[in-house]
Parts: sequence; C-alpha cells; structure tokens
Amino acid sequence: MTAAEELRRLPSVERVLQHDRALALVAAYGRPLTLAAVRQALDDARARLRGPGQAQAPSEAAVAAAAAALLDEWLAPTLRPAINATGVIIHTNLGRAPLSAAARAAVAAASAGYCTLEYDLEEGARGARSLHAERLLVQLTGAEAALVVNNNAAAVLLMLSALAAGREVVISRGQLVEIGGGFRVPDVMRQSGCRLVEVGTTNRTHLHDYEVAITGDTALLLAAHASNFKLVGFTAEPELSELAGLAARRGVLLVHDVGSGALLDTAAYGLAHEPTVQESLSAGAAVVAFSGDKLLGGPQAGILAGRREPIERCKRHPLARAVRADKMTLAALQATLGHYLKDEAPRAVPVWRMLAAPLDEIAARAGRWAAALGGEVVAGESTVGGGSLPGATLPTRLVALRAPGGDADALAARLRAGEPPVIARILDDALVLDPRTVSVEEEEILLASCRSVLGKA
Ligand SMILES: *Cc1c(COP(=O)(O)O)cnc(C)c1O
Repeated sequence: MTAAEELRRLPSVERVLQHDRALALVAAYGRPLTLAAVRQALDDARARLRGPGQAQAPSEAAVAAAAAALLDEWLAPTLRPAINATGVIIHTNLGRAPLSAAARAAVAAASAGYCTLEYDLEEGARGARSLHAERLLVQLTGAEAALVVNNNAAAVLLMLSALAAGREVVISRGQLVEIGGGFRVPDVMRQSGCRLVEVGTTNRTHLHDYEVAITGDTALLLAAHASNFKLVGFTAEPELSELAGLAARRGVLLVHDVGSGALLDTAAYGLAHEPTVQESLSAGAAVVAFSGDKLLGGPQAGILAGRREPIERCKRHPLARAVRADKMTLAALQATLGHYLKDEAPRAVPVWRMLAAPLDEIAARAGRWAAALGGEVVAGESTVGGGSLPGATLPTRLVALRAPGGDADALAARLRAGEPPVIARILDDALVLDPRTVSVEEEEILLASCRSVLGKA
C-alpha cells in the first residue's frame, strides 16, 4: 500500500476515543488531556507515514497505547527523590540539606491544613509572619532581631537595598566573588542600587584601605565570606572585629555575608574552621546574612540576623514582601533550629550527622555493601560541598564496583536510570559509592538497585 493509502487508513480521533484502552485513559486522566495525547499520537503517526520507509497505519489500540505513553511522560514528576552516594554532603544539584524527621513532620503539619502563619491566637487577629523562627534565631545567635527570606541571595539583596540604596558600600577586591548559580557579589550590589567602592587588591587588603575609602556617602562596609575558594600565600585581610571597630568610629555599619550559616564549629569535626554566625555577630557585624540549607542543615532560606534597627529597616523594605519565606520553609526552619537549641544537632540534623559519622561506622557499612555487591572497599574522601569549606575533605571508605564490561560510565548511567535514581561517583575507572551521604533507611533500596544493575538480582 502507498503512503497516501496508509494515511487514509489512519483512525479518526473519535474512533480512537471509543476504544476500550482510550476509555480507560479518559477515566484516569480526564477527557481534555487524553484528547490532546491522542491527537499528538495521531500527528506522530502521520509524520511517520509521510517520512521515509514503509510505515503502516497504526490500529486504534496502537494509537491509544502511544497516547498512554505520552500521558505517562507528560505527567511523570521531574522532581524525584534520589539517593546521593557521591559523598558530597551539601550537594546543591541534589537539593542541598536533607531535612530531619522533625523538620519533615513540621512541613507536613503546616501544609496539610490551615496554620497560624500570620495569626495571633491570643488576640484573634492578624499576627506577624516574622515571628516564626525569629525568636529561636535570636536565642541561638545572640542577635537582637532576625528575618527569614527565600534564600541567602535574596537576604543579601534585601540587606543592601534596605541599608544602602543610592549610597556607597565598601568591599575588598578579594571578596568580589562568584558563589555559583549566577550569584556574583558585585552584580548583587549593583542590583540593590548601592555604589560599589572596591578597596585593596585581590590578595591583600588592609584596614587602612577601608579607612581612606569611607566618605560622608558611605552606608556600609560589606564583608563577604569567600565560601568556595581559598586565598593562600601572600595574603592579608583585616579581622572582622577590626572592621567593626572602624565602622563604629566612622558611624557606618559593618554587614557580613557569612554564606553557609554554620551554628556549630566545624573544627570539632576534623575540618577547617568555618566562621559561625555567632562569631560574626560578636565580632561586631551589625547584620549577618546566611543560607538555611547549607551548614545550618535546614530548608532553603536566607536569614538576616543582627541589631534591631537595621533588621527593622530590612523588614519594612518593599523587597521583603517579594522575597518572603513560605509556611513550609518557616515550619522546617523552626524545627531545625529547635535541634540546635536542644543541643542535639549533631545527632538530629542530617548534615551534621553525616559530618560527624565515625570512620569505623562508615567502614562497617562499606564492608557490608561490598560483600553484598561483590565490590571492594577502598579509602577515599567525602566533601562538604555547597560552597562551604573549599578543599576540605573527610576521610571515608568507598565501595568500588567494577562493571561487567568494565564501563563505569555505563554503570553510573544505569544507576541514574533506576527508581529511585542513585547518583554515584567515578574514581580510577571504577564506580564508587560513599556510605556517608546515604541514610540507613535508603541502604536496602540502594543495594537492590545496584544488584539489579550488576545483574546480581
Ligand atoms: C551560598 C552563598 C550565597 C548564596 O546563598 P543561597 O542561599 O544559595 O541563595 C551567598 N553568599 C555566600 C557567601 C554564599 O556562600
């Protein structure tokens, strides 16, 4: 039969929709969406018949089957849970910090029905959204006030807009950094409408450089933590407390983008010291900005903590409304901060539990995995990630798997294609799994997935 004859034999939309298979689709997906899928399936068939080759017109059942596949594809969630076996603890591409059980429960409770987001129960009237988490932040950090917004990029933008629009902000050339994902300190400064005054050089900036740059038009000294890189060698930068002293003498404010928002000392876990929020405030920063989902280990959020007056100005700025945090974020943050207040963060907050995981415990898990999968335990390193502690690693034990054909990339791709997807690393031509970032609850699923990919199911 010619292509023209095959095209004429193509069933109509109505005929396909009367087929049992299509009726089942209408019941499951509703008529409008099923109709769109059937039309698309018929268009695809038409294109095949017009194309090169000897295609045959599909039956009603075949068109309905093609429509079913399209519906599956259209509705498949693209934001899927995944197992992070990379050993990168704060993996930005994999959603940064996993939440604690209490934080997850708080999100579920706050989102299932109505909640007291902006409702004062005693007064029976409108309350303040900023109340949630703020009290805990004040208690934990020693700040006078705090404000939670969408993320740290928004927190820095709001802080600069509210405190320095139209005025000068002095920053060291060594701190004009790009954090990743398009966050560049000089661009955010320009966006906020303040005038950037660069001082010092890339590697060395002295207190005197700041001192001579301050004019009657200066609003702020901005210190930005160079989260994701290290300056080594012939370098100099004044201490935060020296900058705070200078700011106080000259009647300007020192603000600090501290980045990862550590509330605990990373040095206690065999890592380099990451500046904490408390240190920054006690050194004299008027406002500190940090992320909720890096070393704090909570939901995506940006937090401003500091003196009452500048924080109030940030709260009143119109941008505050545009970048405010939602109820689920506030619920998760409040629960996460609760772990710190109860002094249980190293056990309860997943990021800190992973940082603190003892090597012998990781080695024991790696040994069990290797035995189950026919792999080999090798020494390796986990990283903190998320632009925290550049270059810092934690000793770990990895399970190295050799692919049947020796192709580690193909093995990694098959693991990614699983349900749930497993994300691993390639090291020296082997696929390696790091137990540090895999929770005990995920372990059986991970092993089943690996067994099936290795053909050991
Ligand atoms: C990560 C980071 C940011 C951006 O924070 P987000 O929460 O990702 O918006 C800004 N500044 C510093 C120093 C950072 O480390």
